[in-house]
Amino acid sequence: MVYLDNAATTKMFEECADVLKKYACMDFYNPSAEYGQAVNISRELDNARKSLLNKLGASKGDVVFTGGATESNNLAVMGSVRNGSWEYVFSAGEHPSVFNVAHHLKELGHIVHFVPLQRNGQVDYDALKTMLNKNTRLISIMHVSNETGVINDLAKISQIRDEYASKALFHADGVQAFCKMPFRLDELGVDLYSISAHKFHGPKGVGALYVKNKSSLKNIVYGGGQEGGFRSGTENVAGIKAMQCAFEQIDVAENFEKVQDLKRQFLSIVAGCNGAMYVDSESPYIVSLSFEGVNGETLMRAVEDQMIVGMGSACSAKHAGNRILKEMKFSPDKIKSSIRVSFNAYLSLEDVKNAGNYLVETYEKLLEKVK
Ligand code: PLP
Repeated sequence: MVYLDNAATTKMFEECADVLKKYACMDFYNPSAEYGQAVNISRELDNARKSLLNKLGASKGDVVFTGGATESNNLAVMGSVRNGSWEYVFSAGEHPSVFNVAHHLKELGHIVHFVPLQRNGQVDYDALKTMLNKNTRLISIMHVSNETGVINDLAKISQIRDEYASKALFHADGVQAFCKMPFRLDELGVDLYSISAHKFHGPKGVGALYVKNKSSLKNIVYGGGQEGGFRSGTENVAGIKAMQCAFEQIDVAENFEKVQDLKRQFLSIVAGCNGAMYVDSESPYIVSLSFEGVNGETLMRAVEDQMIVGMGSACSAKHAGNRILKEMKFSPDKIKSSIRVSFNAYLSLEDVKNAGNYLVETYEKLLEKVK
């Protein structure tokens, strides 16, 4: 079985399971307690924090550990909200964990703008400029699209922010970028950045929010004041240490090259198939494909005995249609015939090629049947 839905989740590294067990069963102390064992755990968390800042390429700022990226995104957006005539700007391509928060803000009566996507899937930078002003409080635009693998130019967006809305905070959902493509946050100019461990071979239910300047953010959960007051509740120590174990062992640049090769070889097989099309994207980890005349879900089920592919964001897969492809002006037929293939760096080239060939063969058989 070849698993090609790595944008939905990844298989956890075996080493992370050992770390989970260590901090669940042996070093299980509450990091907020005062005795020596607990103080050591608190130091272990700080060590994970420093290591994450280093991996993110952030020379200043802080890390707030959370229960995953949905929570990080909610904290980034809702924690930025202030009273007064502030405005909030989101890309139309955001994951539901940002997009639905944006709609919530709108329902609360705030001024919310959605920046359309260009046909290539990137946010429309010119349209963004027209939506910014001195009242803009937050710009939230994702780094890499979980649907298409298209990369937004964050450095360019932060320059636009500096020019048109210098008071605005810039948040980026980095879930499909962190540990998958080389970058340094220091060079991107973001104030807030969300990550999730299960997308890079760590455990589920743990993530983080990078915060450049803590005074710019407010907590949205009230309680004992853990995580500098930004995320009350006893920390998921085992999860955080297992997440650290995952990101510390990933060689991002080396993996990027490897996955680039996997994607290239996979697409060369698909490109030889009449009726197949794909979205050109810079992230090697994700590709959105469509197979003319065959329903994407039918194709996904038909290949299921040998390979697993996705139907787009697992969280939104149950809803009809694909909001992101619609934004990119795909026809309804093309949207219906879309699937998402997403790789990891530990797949063999042979498996990926076999999967590509099987996908194409299965499509051609299905097409014969519907003719
Ligand atoms: N943001 C993006 C871009 C994602 O792909 C996902 C997961 O599908 C999330 C946020 C949500 O992450 P989590 O599962 O950690 O809540």
